[in-house]
Amino acid sequence: MTARSTEAGGCLCGGLRFQTKAQPVRLTLCYCRFCQRATGSTHMVEPIFQKSDFEVTDGEAAIYSLQSQGSGKQVHVHFCSRCGTKICLRFERFPDVVGVYAGAFDNPSWFDSTPETTACLFLDSAAAGAIVPAGVPVYRQHRSGPDGLPNEAIVFEAPHQVKLAE
Ligand SMILES: [Zn+2]
Ligand SMILES: [Zn+2]
Repeated sequence: MTARSTEAGGCLCGGLRFQTKAQPVRLTLCYCRFCQRATGSTHMVEPIFQKSDFEVTDGEAAIYSLQSQGSGKQVHVHFCSRCGTKICLRFERFPDVVGVYAGAFDNPSWFDSTPETTACLFLDSAAAGAIVPAGVPVYRQHRSGPDGLPNEAIVFEAPHQVKLAE
């Protein structure tokens, strides 16, 4: 089953609206401290789109930029200056893609997520009690190092609950 390809979303107040035109190229579940702080949750659900498949259709996003602790490159948080909702991330390190805050879609369940296209990042930073799904690659840090070479992944056979560090 393939979902519709054009999907819309927006901020809480409706002043900022966006649209995507294709399935995401991959789905990242990110457990890093940045995403914990930026979502208030254990992880960000982040479908990643080609830049050309994402467009803001109403309003203009405010942008907060900060340096990634991992790569030292800039990460740009796009949000609504009126209601504060974050809609997406842009990356100096990955200029061709946009990471959308999945919960900002009108239908946050519309995109396909398969083990082949999903990965969990930054397990080492995950909060105690966080749940990591089974059957998908899980990386202790980013999926690739600063040199661009892929890091090694763990795959849990059952859902994994993060324990308090000893
Ligand atoms: Zn808003
Ligand atoms: Zn993150």
